[in-house]
Amino acid sequence: MLYVGCHLSSAKGFAAMGRTALSVGANTFQFFTRNPRGSRAKPADPEDVAALNAMRAEHGFGPIVAHAPYTLNPCSMDERVREFARETLADDLRRLEPMADCYYNFHPGSHGGQGMEAGITWISEALNAIVRPEQRTVVLLETMAGKGSEVGSRFEELREILDRMAVPEKLGVCLDTCHVSDAGYDLAADPDGVLTEFDRVVGLGRLRAVHLNDSRNPAGSHKDRHARLGEGTLGLETFYRLRAHPALAGLPLILETPNELDGYAREIGLLRGNL
Ligand code: FE
Ligand code: FE
Ligand code: ZN
Repeated sequence: MLYVGCHLSSAKGFAAMGRTALSVGANTFQFFTRNPRGSRAKPADPEDVAALNAMRAEHGFGPIVAHAPYTLNPCSMDERVREFARETLADDLRRLEPMADCYYNFHPGSHGGQGMEAGITWISEALNAIVRPEQRTVVLLETMAGKGSEVGSRFEELREILDRMAVPEKLGVCLDTCHVSDAGYDLAADPDGVLTEFDRVVGLGRLRAVHLNDSRNPAGSHKDRHARLGEGTLGLETFYRLRAHPALAGLPLILETPNELDGYAREIGLLRGNL
């Protein structure tokens, strides 16, 4: 089954996101768990969650992806910032528990000059303090572009975090195509080779979701500027090849391209039909 969707606003609640997803031809979607600055989130309305769960079952949705606020930094130099990240991650995971078949994606963080090893240690300790064997939600580390001191732009860094997990079965990876290319893995030139390298270092079994974004910048630029599919350096051909790649079969493919809903509907149509 091809599960393809896009990032949606959660402002009107869960069932509303399900309806919007259906209206653009999506059978998965992503949403922020709270506003990107990471402020307090209101508790999820159980009826709204149940309505979305029912709608997803009826329409054959795949797994959905909750995205943590991107300002969280569990490996900051500042203990207050690290504590805020831990509290927010833990609170999000509590609130996501009633959601059926849901991933929780987050940006590992920026070490801010402490060095990669220190960053990986902070992130691993934070996750081990939060992730419980009994939780339903699987937490995903997103592959990063390597802007500034971001942790997770090299597959080896993600592997190192995964290797330190006390509950490894509750952790996985979300591969962002713009970020991976910006990090220096040349997806446009050799998508097969990049996925083979991911398999060698991390293992394709750890890959649970994909962000499909074109990039405004060439491979290795470390910029993280998303483009619409076919309007960047990856090109439509790369997305057609990824869409048909056995390594990605059955995974939720989420667009985070600069689009309104009509643009998302068009890109979802491209991914579904144009092979
Ligand atoms: Fe992200
Ligand atoms: Fe992303
Ligand atoms: Zn990005």
